[in-house]
Amino acid sequence: MTKLGFTTRQVHSDRMLNTPEHGGVHSSTSNSVLFEFKDAQGIIDAFQGKRAAHVYSRSSSPSVAALQNMLNDLEGGVGTLCYSTGMAAISSSLFALLKAGDHLIVSQYLFGNTRSFFETIKDFGVQVTYTDVTDIQQVKEAYQPNTKGVYTETVANPVTQVADLHAIGQFCEEKHMLFMVDNTMTPPPVFYAKDVKASLVFCSLTKYIAGHGNVLGGAVVDTGNFDWTKFDNLKPAYQVADIAQWGITQIKKKGLRDLGATLAPQSATAIALGMETLDLRLARSQHNAMQLATFLDNHPKVSKVFYPGLADHPQHFMAREYLNGGYGAILSFDLIDGADPVAFLNEMELVICATHLGDNRTLALPVAPTIYFENTAEERELMGISDTMLRISVGIEDTQDLIADFEAALNTI
Ligand SMILES: *Cc1c(COP(=O)(O)O)cnc(C)c1O
Repeated sequence: MTKLGFTTRQVHSDRMLNTPEHGGVHSSTSNSVLFEFKDAQGIIDAFQGKRAAHVYSRSSSPSVAALQNMLNDLEGGVGTLCYSTGMAAISSSLFALLKAGDHLIVSQYLFGNTRSFFETIKDFGVQVTYTDVTDIQQVKEAYQPNTKGVYTETVANPVTQVADLHAIGQFCEEKHMLFMVDNTMTPPPVFYAKDVKASLVFCSLTKYIAGHGNVLGGAVVDTGNFDWTKFDNLKPAYQVADIAQWGITQIKKKGLRDLGATLAPQSATAIALGMETLDLRLARSQHNAMQLATFLDNHPKVSKVFYPGLADHPQHFMAREYLNGGYGAILSFDLIDGADPVAFLNEMELVICATHLGDNRTLALPVAPTIYFENTAEERELMGISDTMLRISVGIEDTQDLIADFEAALNTI
């Protein structure tokens, strides 16, 4: 399958990887929670890990397994687990791998809920140092003997800072640390985290992978880059015959089975369907984002635009090097002083005021008083978020319609 182009592989991957029942071209939605073993020895072997089988659908089921195979293929992993949401994938996996006394280096530019989760694990005794991941020197300075890993997003939301992914990957490899990359903003084929030595790739499937705003889901992919024999938090019980499976086995048992944030089979089917057109949607959204960013950047009512595709973006060259022919489809901007962002949003007719991203439809919201409402003014300043900033998740509409909607609303200012 590796010889096929990206889109070809996407539209045939379910059929090829999972051989659906009855010659179907999609895996079916399989609702059964329990699975029968005709020979009782089978259930014993399954419990003891001597035989791969679905036992109880909190841990594994056919429709979710089919999606996991497709995601694993997409990211080039050695193992993938799905969860009910992106936050469940992040929180459950980290709870499964960390213990009190560990230290993590974490991007200071994080999705708000992930940032909030890092504050929670601090209460469980995990030390966290927030750092500027666009600057490898600062990441290196945050290193301590008990540092277990670095956690970052690729392109941050809302201000679009781009992490120095290549340099951080190199540093993590040298120090035998986990390199955890949230690739929600730039899924393949835009960015392959495996290529910059990422150990674990997190993704909110709710966003671009599913794409249609009708289903929640999350995933963690083990890329196979990390040497789990160097990770001292693994329980002996999960050190299975294949060393490459040690990490994902512990994440499955401690993260998915014990914490229980399982993806529903109906959701797995919806996500798999959305994924078929991933790169077509992404390409169109990225094209629109570039056009819109350029339009806004040249507009007299706009004071500043944040988009990695613009030549004056501080990490434009990093984005050009790391991303595969696009700059993502999130942009933020500030109106000129004195303009009311709420009044501006209310003038938009096509663009939807909503808190989501990666959707087919273009969405906008004021970020400081919503997503970052719980953060202090100092924290927001550190993340580069101004009080009046608007975030746009650019969808797949016809470019001229989008620009016309922005132009009309800007003209009312
Ligand atoms: C949305 C998002 C998440 C959380 O995903 P949910 O599916 O909403 O739980 C995590 N990381 C990033 C970068 C996101 O945009």
